[in-house]
Amino acid sequence: MIEADGRMDEGERDGMMRLSQRLVALHVAGIAILVVVVLSSVAWISREHNLLALHSSESLVEGGLDAFRARLRTLVNDYSVWDEAYDAARADDRGWLYSNIGNAAAEIGTLDLIVFVAPDTGASFGWRRGSPTEGEPDLLPPGLLAPIERAMADPDQDHGTVMASYRSEPWVFSAARVRPVDGAPAGVPEAMLPIQVHGMRLSGDRLAMIGHGILVNGLSLADAPAPGKAKVALVDFAGRSIGYITWVPPRPGASILGRVAPPLGLALLLVTVVSAISSRYAVRSARRLECALLAAKAADRSKTEFLSNVSHELRTPMNGVLGVAQLLQTTQLDDEQRELVAVLFASANAQMALISDLLDFSKLEGGNRQLVVEPFEPASVLRDVAEMMRVAADGKLITLDCSWEPLAVLTVMGDPHAFRQIVTNLVGNAVKFTDEGGVTLAARVEQVEDAVEIAVAVEDSGRGIPADALPHIFERFYQVDASLSRTAEGTGLGLAISQNLARMMGGRIDVASRLGLGSAFTFTARFPTVEAPEETRDAA
Ligand code: ADP
Repeated sequence: MIEADGRMDEGERDGMMRLSQRLVALHVAGIAILVVVVLSSVAWISREHNLLALHSSESLVEGGLDAFRARLRTLVNDYSVWDEAYDAARADDRGWLYSNIGNAAAEIGTLDLIVFVAPDTGASFGWRRGSPTEGEPDLLPPGLLAPIERAMADPDQDHGTVMASYRSEPWVFSAARVRPVDGAPAGVPEAMLPIQVHGMRLSGDRLAMIGHGILVNGLSLADAPAPGKAKVALVDFAGRSIGYITWVPPRPGASILGRVAPPLGLALLLVTVVSAISSRYAVRSARRLECALLAAKAADRSKTEFLSNVSHELRTPMNGVLGVAQLLQTTQLDDEQRELVAVLFASANAQMALISDLLDFSKLEGGNRQLVVEPFEPASVLRDVAEMMRVAADGKLITLDCSWEPLAVLTVMGDPHAFRQIVTNLVGNAVKFTDEGGVTLAARVEQVEDAVEIAVAVEDSGRGIPADALPHIFERFYQVDASLSRTAEGTGLGLAISQNLARMMGGRIDVASRLGLGSAFTFTARFPTVEAPEETRDAA
C-alpha cells in the first residue's frame, strides 16, 4: 500500500525502518557482549588458576631446595660431633676416616664430596667417587673455604650452606668443626678444631629427590630460563647466577576449561537460539509497527492533500456566490428580498471563512505554508483588525478597547499576513465568546538584543474556558462546546492555525482563563527591527 502510494521517499523509509534495525543491532550486540563476557570470564578464571599453580609450584621448589640444604647441614653435624672422628682427624688416621666417613662419598655415593681441612695450615684432603683410601689432596674448590667458614658461623643463613659452581655444575656445601661429643677438649680453642666439609651436586637424582619430596615432577637444570617453563634461580655465595632449576608448571586452568567448555558452549548456544527467535518476533512486530506508521503517515498526507484540494475547489464557486450576493445587495430590492440577500451574504461569508480555515490548515499540515519576511508595521495591522472587529463587537453591544501605542512608528521584518491572521483569530474568538462586558487588545514591546519582542494580549470578559478543556484548545477541530446547538460558529481550527503560525515565527500563544469570568490570550514573538521609511514615520 505504501509502495503503491509511491510518495514515500527512500530517506523517509530508511528513517522509519530504524526501529527494527536497532532491535537487530541491539540483539546482536547483546549476544556478542554475553559471549565475550562469558568467554573472557572463563579465560580469566583459568589464567588465574594457572598463575596460582605456577606460584605455588615455585614456592614448593624453593621449599624443597631449602629442605635439601637443611638436610645436608644436619648430615655434616651428625658426622662431626663424634669422639672417634675427632681422634682420627687429629691423628690423621685416614683408614678409619675413609671407612667410617669418606666411603660415603667414594663408594656409596650418599655424598659427592667429603673433605677434612686442617685448622692451622688450611691443608685439606678428602674423597669423591673413585678416590683411594688415603684420599686426595685439595679437593675443595678454590676460594670456598672463607664463605664456608662464614656459613658455619651463621647456620641460620641459607641453613648454614653455601652454593657454588663446581666443575660447571651447581653444588651445595655444608661444613662443621669436628669435635668430641662433650665439646672441644680443654685448652683447644674452637678455631683449632678440624673442619669437615660435605658437598652435593645439584643434578640428576638429587633434583629428582627434591622433586619427589614436594610432588613436583620433571625438575631439571638449565643455564637460562626456558619459555613456558617455571624456574627458580640458583645463585652462588657471591651473588652470581649459576643456573636455574626449571620444570613444566601445572596448568589446572586448562583442565577447568576442558570441563566447563562443553556445558558452557551448549548454554551459550541455547541462549543465542532463544534470543534469536525472540528477537525475530520483536523485529517482525517492529516492522509491522513501522509499516503501520508509514501507512498512517501516508493516509494523513493524502487526507491533508484531499482537504487542500477540496477547499481550493470550493473556494472558486463560493467567490462567485459571494460576488453575486454582493451585487444583488446593490440592486432594487424590497425589504423581504433585502433580508434574504443579507442571510445569503452572511451564510456565504461564513462558508468562505470555513473554507479559508480548512485551506490554511491543510497548507500548514502539508508544510506548504511559507512565511514571507518583509517590513511591516505591527501597529497598522492591529488598527486594521480592530476596525474590522468593531462592527461585530458593536453588533453584540460589547466594548472593544484597543491600544497599540507602544508599537507606534515601529517597523519590523516578518510576515504581516501571519501576524494579522493570529491577531484576527484571537480578537475574533474573544468577540465571538463574549456576550457581556467587552474585549481589550493591548500591545507591549521590549528590546531584545538586535530584535524586538512583541506581545499582543487579547482579554475578554466572556464565558471563559473550563480548566479541563484548556490543554486541548490548540488541538485541531477542538471546540469546548461541539454540540449542534452551540451558540457560536466555528471550525475548531482557528487556534490550531494560530499556534502553528506563531511557532513558525519562533513565537508562542499563551492562555489563561476562568470559567464564567473571561479569558486572556497572549501572542508573543520576536522580530528584527528596521528603520521606518521617512514618510511612514511622518504619517505616524
Ligand atoms: P473556533 O473556530 O471554534 O473558534 P478555535 O480553534 O479558534 O476554534 O477555538 C477552539 C475553541 O476554544 C473554541 O471552540 C472555544 O470553545 C475555545 N475558545 C477560544 N477562544 C475563546 C475565548 N476567547 N473564550 C472562550 N472560549 C474560547
